[in-house]
Amino acid sequence: MAAAAIKLGAEGKRAPELQKGVDRILGRRKFDWRKVEIDGVAGLETFRAAHFALWLIGASEDQLRRVRREHRITDHAFKLLTGEIERSVAMKRRDEQRRPEVRRLRAEHKKRGTLAGVQIRSTAPGETHWGGSRDVMEQFVEPFMLHRGLPLGSHKRTPAYNAAIGGSPVSDHLTTHTTTDARDFPTFSGEDDARALAAAIGWKSWSPNSYATFEFTVDGHRFRIQILWGSGIGHGDHVHVGISILS
Ligand SMILES: [Zn+2]
Repeated sequence: MAAAAIKLGAEGKRAPELQKGVDRILGRRKFDWRKVEIDGVAGLETFRAAHFALWLIGASEDQLRRVRREHRITDHAFKLLTGEIERSVAMKRRDEQRRPEVRRLRAEHKKRGTLAGVQIRSTAPGETHWGGSRDVMEQFVEPFMLHRGLPLGSHKRTPAYNAAIGGSPVSDHLTTHTTTDARDFPTFSGEDDARALAAAIGWKSWSPNSYATFEFTVDGHRFRIQILWGSGIGHGDHVHVGISILS
């Protein structure tokens, strides 16, 4: 008799086996960045990764729907993911058919977190694009820092909120600065990250404890960036990144 399906939140012996199987597939297919932690709990992250791994190996729409909508990994799907059973001819065919999409996903990931891949979608001031600065932040700076393991911190703030938390009255975080985007990345050891980000933009002379700015061009637009780190300037617990469009 087949074992019961794995449900969302399941623990026990099969959960880590599932996670290992999923990670093995993702590694083999060169999607290492989508791997899950082997923590023995089949939570949402694990289900998302399992869904993607099943899609990669050619699972049918029915199989995928069970994982995505019913939050159920059947015993059959489990065995496919752990390699206990062979794939059907139909699965291998779907795998083949999905290859162009797989290549597109990999290429897209490569561009993420690199300046060359940034597209300025709009230079409209205010909420959403902040003059185009948001596009640089969202497509380059944030993925770059997330890749290095930093979390996302404070973003734009209204003047009232900024004053309440003691933010600088000329802060890039202020919503009244409509062509500027700002983001903090909380950390107690941010110097290497700040320097790496500066280097990725071509700012070789960046140094900690300095309010210096740097200008760069991306997708035909000119921007100014400020990367603050250092306890000497009150930035010993987060890297601050401010970006403004110039033209
Ligand atoms: Zn800040």
